[in-house]
Amino acid sequence: MGWKIYINDQLIDEAEAKVSVFDHGLLYGDGVFEGIRVYNRKIFELEAHMKRLYDSAHAIRLKIPQNIDELTKNVEMTVKANDITDGYIRLVVTRGVGNLGINPKLCQEPQIIIIAASIQLYPKELYEKGLKVVSAATMRVPPMSLMTQVKSLNYLNNILAKMEALDYDAMEAIMYNDQGFVAEASADNVFVIQNNKLSTPPISAGALNGITRGVIIKIARENGYEVAEENLTRYDLYTADEIFLTGTGAELIGAIEVDGRKIGLGEPGPITKKLKKIFETYVRN
Ligand code: PMP
Repeated sequence: MGWKIYINDQLIDEAEAKVSVFDHGLLYGDGVFEGIRVYNRKIFELEAHMKRLYDSAHAIRLKIPQNIDELTKNVEMTVKANDITDGYIRLVVTRGVGNLGINPKLCQEPQIIIIAASIQLYPKELYEKGLKVVSAATMRVPPMSLMTQVKSLNYLNNILAKMEALDYDAMEAIMYNDQGFVAEASADNVFVIQNNKLSTPPISAGALNGITRGVIIKIARENGYEVAEENLTRYDLYTADEIFLTGTGAELIGAIEVDGRKIGLGEPGPITKKLKKIFETYVRN
């Protein structure tokens, strides 16, 4: 038996849950989404994810055909129907079925899809050992092209960066903006630690306003660490004491090598490990 998928206003067996080949989410990547964690049967930061989803939709002029309370209830219902204790939700809203042109106004009704399942983004041992990252030649899209806060279905740019990383036997790619400042990783936010101080690129550098990023900033400050949102260069990465990445899928994972330069002692550093522990406790409470 597979997962029960929410689509067309009902729960359907995974094998039967299908979208039209004319859906503009498929044809043009026209749509928005969220990835959300479930810990201990509770949906983590659901409100923040819902807000980001509706903001993304508003920014691309996509009218979600349910209000935020209705959609929240349907997310909760899908998690229950799949009996998820610890898992991952993929909430997708596409522009819906249209014709073969890009005109979104000719699309009928936006399509809502909710998948509640499981995820293991990186192999378990990488959380102990840390991962290798490389600087991608593929640039993060400039905000005058696609607003970088929009979590859209258009991930080709990030996928190209990810492929560069995989070519060099690395699991993640660092993406830079058109000014040469660090924006984020292909699917995670980036934090650098230097002299006990945490820094992360500002949202204006092209980072997605990561929910995990926000939680880490909050708990780091609560635990006495200084956290700055400031521009970072490749040099700041190469000379960092510690680096870690954050994301809903990735959670918090140390990066131990950037472009062949060892970071710190070449293993996740003490602050990374400490914050990871605090984060793990936080999400379960
Ligand atoms: N940046 C990108 C490009 C992402 O796709 C994601 C989500 N995987 C993140 C950052 C992290 O965001 P969040 O913590 O909200 O998952």
